[in-house]
Amino acid sequence: MDRELINKLRQILGPSAVIDDETELLVYECDALTLFRNKPDVVVLPRTSEQVAQIVRLANEHRIPFLPRGAGTGLSGGALAIEGGIIIELQRMNRIVSIDAENRMAVVQPGVVNIHISQAVAPYGLYYAPDPSSQMSCSIGGNVAENSGGPHCLKYGMTTNHILAIEAVTSKGEIVRFGHPSGEPIGMDLLGAIVGSEGTFVIVTEITVRLLPKPQAVKTLLAAFHSVEECSQCVSDVIAAGIVPSALEFVDAKTIEAVEASVYRAGYPRDAAAALLIEVDGFRDGLEETSDAIAEICRRNRAYNVRIATDDEERARLWLGRKGAFGAMGRISPDMITMDAVIPRTRLPEVLVAIDRISQRYGLPVANVFHAGDGNLHPLILFDGRRQDHVSKVFGMSEEIVKLCVDVGGSLSGEHGIGYEKKDFMGMVFTESDLDTMMRVKRVFNPDALLNPAKVFPTRRSCTEIGKHSTTSTAEIGKRVQEILLGEKP
Ligand SMILES: Cc1cc2nc3c(=O)[nH]c(=O)nc-3n(C[C@H](O)[C@H](O)[C@H](O)COP(=O)(O)OP(=O)(O)OC[C@H]3O[C@@H](n4cnc5c(N)ncnc54)[C@H](O)[C@@H]3O)c2cc1C
Repeated sequence: MDRELINKLRQILGPSAVIDDETELLVYECDALTLFRNKPDVVVLPRTSEQVAQIVRLANEHRIPFLPRGAGTGLSGGALAIEGGIIIELQRMNRIVSIDAENRMAVVQPGVVNIHISQAVAPYGLYYAPDPSSQMSCSIGGNVAENSGGPHCLKYGMTTNHILAIEAVTSKGEIVRFGHPSGEPIGMDLLGAIVGSEGTFVIVTEITVRLLPKPQAVKTLLAAFHSVEECSQCVSDVIAAGIVPSALEFVDAKTIEAVEASVYRAGYPRDAAAALLIEVDGFRDGLEETSDAIAEICRRNRAYNVRIATDDEERARLWLGRKGAFGAMGRISPDMITMDAVIPRTRLPEVLVAIDRISQRYGLPVANVFHAGDGNLHPLILFDGRRQDHVSKVFGMSEEIVKLCVDVGGSLSGEHGIGYEKKDFMGMVFTESDLDTMMRVKRVFNPDALLNPAKVFPTRRSCTEIGKHSTTSTAEIGKRVQEILLGEKP
């Protein structure tokens, strides 16, 4: 990369906040989706919004692509520097700026780790509800970009329902504000457009989050089944009974095997074909009756064991198993990819059977652990990344699984976003006109496509973006496009 640009970045940020050493850059060559890799040219670690704005203005002057990155736990390749350029890593912007307990809100910087918000406001009897399973490490800025969900989003809603206002740096380097702490946006609701825009509209530099009072009481149940079909039917029956659990999570036998072999050992029944982790919360009065009603529905679906956690320690252990499940897969497989799709809840039994058939046909195991209550599936394909035949199979399987979900009336992503991974699947659910409309909205925020290029939109559409800031010849651009289309290089 141009030395002059690196020197200017060092002048803005100081020497320790600019990384251009080839070995150190390896850390940033992918996010938690390790199938695609590309190193950025440089990584910068700003501490203030003004520094972010300066970096963006400099990138515009030099016509260099740039993108924001939080903790890099994203599972769709969103924080991948697909065309090199500058990664703006926001982890040093990690201050909780203020807590307004009376009005139940907090102002935080984007690099704050999700769980640190709840820990900081716990003394006021408050918490931040959206709880991705990665909440011990993912950043709130990444959550806003992905409109992240989590086990408790079934009852409390996704990130978008908990963000009141943001400060952001535009793709041209201006500092702007969207939304209002009152939660009543004045004028057009652009905040709604930005949450979930996957780091392609603006760089979020400050966030006002909504806080909720901690529920008076919580009950957590674990129900074990000998049959996957009966377990998934139970999910539909709980919701059909008019009960809204705060969480309703599914773990299958493979997941149980991995969790029980790992440090997250949660005491899940090893002989179960599948189990449900169900939580209800709210006022103490009536909660026992609700959990009894759920236990009864589980038994009607032939659950052979229904256990209610007796204290906070047992509850925490059950959740540790679920939240550590992705990591635990390392005990049974060298690699995995976490898929993310949504289906109508009622189609769960047949879709799980069909996924199992796909897994058998390709000869690669699939573990299932997901937010069953809102139909958000996470099939985990287990493979060995050192084997090219496995990698090719993973691409084939993931496309078939996504198509299966779309065919039963589902969609491409429940919470991990489209990013780089699923951009070429967008045509499965959107028409040309839908995509054109979205692309035009994106251009309003990001007219030169320098901010996080080659994400979300199918390759053919983002081809035009590739040329815009490139200094290479048309032939080189053509070659690059071909590489992307053939999947030879990210
Ligand atoms: C073990 C594990 C469990 C997970 N469980 C869940 C889950 O239950 N629910 C769920 O929804 N997700 C889950 N995820 C996915 C991931 O944690 C979320 O998508 C999370 O929001 C990403 O945050 P991050 O800080 O790591 O973002 P990154 O991975 O760094 O970035 C993700 C995207 O956000 C953009 N971005 C980052 N910061 C900003 C910013 N300040 N302004 C604008 N754009 C920005 C990036 O450009 C990128 O496109 C899980 C991941 C793992 C590894």
